[in-house]
Amino acid sequence: MVMLSGGKKKKYLNYMDISDTKSFIKQHIDIFGKEFYLNSHKKYGLILKDQKPTNESISDFKLSIENCNRCNLGNTRTKFVFGVGDPNADLLLVGEGPGEKEDLQGEPFVGRAGKLLDKILKAIGYSREKKVFITNIVKCRPPDNRDPLPSEVEECFPFLEKQIDLINPKIIVALGKVAGKTLLKKDILLKEMRNETYYLNCIPLRVTYHPAALLRNPSLKNESWKDFQYIRDFLAS
Ligand code: URA
Repeated sequence: MVMLSGGKKKKYLNYMDISDTKSFIKQHIDIFGKEFYLNSHKKYGLILKDQKPTNESISDFKLSIENCNRCNLGNTRTKFVFGVGDPNADLLLVGEGPGEKEDLQGEPFVGRAGKLLDKILKAIGYSREKKVFITNIVKCRPPDNRDPLPSEVEECFPFLEKQIDLINPKIIVALGKVAGKTLLKKDILLKEMRNETYYLNCIPLRVTYHPAALLRNPSLKNESWKDFQYIRDFLAS
């Protein structure tokens, strides 16, 4: 049985017709397998993991994990980069992992790519303080900015799941291939991930270019702008 109800996503769900529901279920099975969990404390019917009901705030959660040493990145980091923004954000942006500046400041996307991300957010009427939360797949900097190892992603992923559960955004946007393939559990080309709405715990998920890719290849900016226009219009609907 599929239960769809309530919460700040109610409006969206009311518009989900039977073909949306079928495509949602098909995607969920493709990505996560056939197990669906129902959990009455959630405003949403279908969820990925059976999270325990909690009154924990996002800042309590941060305090509880910021000394994490689950993987070796804990030995080389300067600061744990939990994420920043509005705890009741509508838009959750997920990058790959902290770079050098982020590691020093303890905040995601503060380097050149972050400045570009701030401009993009401004262009759609948002900012990192207003209805947006920004975080990464891994919370500690991989040395020399290498991609996070699968074992590091695996150790860190429950933190992101909990952030999603606590923030309960209207839409999740994966920035770049590492975030996209981790959230979709599918290693396909980024251009194949784009222009499709997936669902994570019933929350719509879109994938777009990482802002660092736009700096390296400005010709991608047009396509990225289309993605963010979609996100803007989705949030306004
Ligand atoms: N790139 C990311 O993916 N995340 C950051 O926080 C900074 C750069």
